[in-house]
Amino acid sequence: MTSRSTAGPVLPRDDLRALEGYHSPQLDVPVRLNTNESPFAPPPEFVDEWLAALRSLAFNRYPDRAARELRDALGAHMLQPAQRLFCANGSNEVLQTLLLTYGGAGRRVLVYEPTYALHSHIAHITGTQVIEADRLPGFHLDPDGAPALVRDTEPSIVFVCSPNNPTGTVEARDTLEAIAVAAADIGALLVVDEAYGEFAHWSALELVDERRALVVVRTYSKVWSMAALRLGFAVGPSWVVDELDKVVLPYSLSAPTQLAGVIALRYVDEMARRVETLVEERGRVAVECASYPEITVFPSGANFLLFEVVGDGHAVWEAMVKRGVLVRDFSRWPRVANCLRVTIGTREENDAFLRALREALDEVVER
Ligand code: PMP
Repeated sequence: MTSRSTAGPVLPRDDLRALEGYHSPQLDVPVRLNTNESPFAPPPEFVDEWLAALRSLAFNRYPDRAARELRDALGAHMLQPAQRLFCANGSNEVLQTLLLTYGGAGRRVLVYEPTYALHSHIAHITGTQVIEADRLPGFHLDPDGAPALVRDTEPSIVFVCSPNNPTGTVEARDTLEAIAVAAADIGALLVVDEAYGEFAHWSALELVDERRALVVVRTYSKVWSMAALRLGFAVGPSWVVDELDKVVLPYSLSAPTQLAGVIALRYVDEMARRVETLVEERGRVAVECASYPEITVFPSGANFLLFEVVGDGHAVWEAMVKRGVLVRDFSRWPRVANCLRVTIGTREENDAFLRALREALDEVVER
């Protein structure tokens, strides 16, 4: 048997070597408004019910691979048949499964930048070529140009994030319908990422049916206060869900996560009230920010606001961190230069943000 005398480095795939990991920097500061989670813990009754259910769980058995109870409960909640539901560990895993199924070597995805970085990131990892398209000034998609580009570039998947992260932009129904028609013409799947869908005035869930190659992706990480548990889902035609079921790892969704997903849905009213509170706070924070002459706030249908700072956005971000408030720094990103994104928190957190922003602007921006 031959062996190599000197061990060389083990190299990843050539096309992965240049890839940087996805990071959302965390800092240990009192007010963290940088990752768009819910500022509220789940209702204590929900946690109690979940813990009680865990006591009688058959830990020695694999979980229900089909997540039947969860799909039924979600289907009833979304007014969709259970066969149109696909569940996974966070919507990131849903996106990954979509790309493993419909992307891959020799295929392309179309994304409209700036948008959620994981769409391109997972595409690269799955060997799928990424085509980046621009948005109009103000971040909406071009209602004619966006569908035209689908026909021109012939991707396998088109990603539209609405409300868009990081801009907050909600696309019009007409635009999404036109993109869906263009996608159908060339045999592509339209994936609408609605991680923040509950905060918007309309949802592409209305467009889901058996005939349209359109999938809406949602998460329990935001409204449902369950980011730590990792649960996301897709709503789409059953023939898409069947394919995703073949590709996802068996038993990937743990029994505790499935249980949490079912139990959370008993708190729909409480969660709807929380959404109302956050939407109201979003309005209050937007109005206040808009009164600062150094700031432009972009309209948002999500639980965050993107704003552009006159001058050096990164310096403003640093001055806010110094004051114990962490927002997300997009100031060095293409297409959103000098922009920062703040997650809407509790009233107290939002007040702390507004104070820190005012002080940071006074410190950094020259008049
Ligand atoms: N889509 C968008 C647009 C997001 O902003 C996020 C979270 N940052 C996700 C998907 C992923 O969320 P999760 O995996 O926690 O469901």
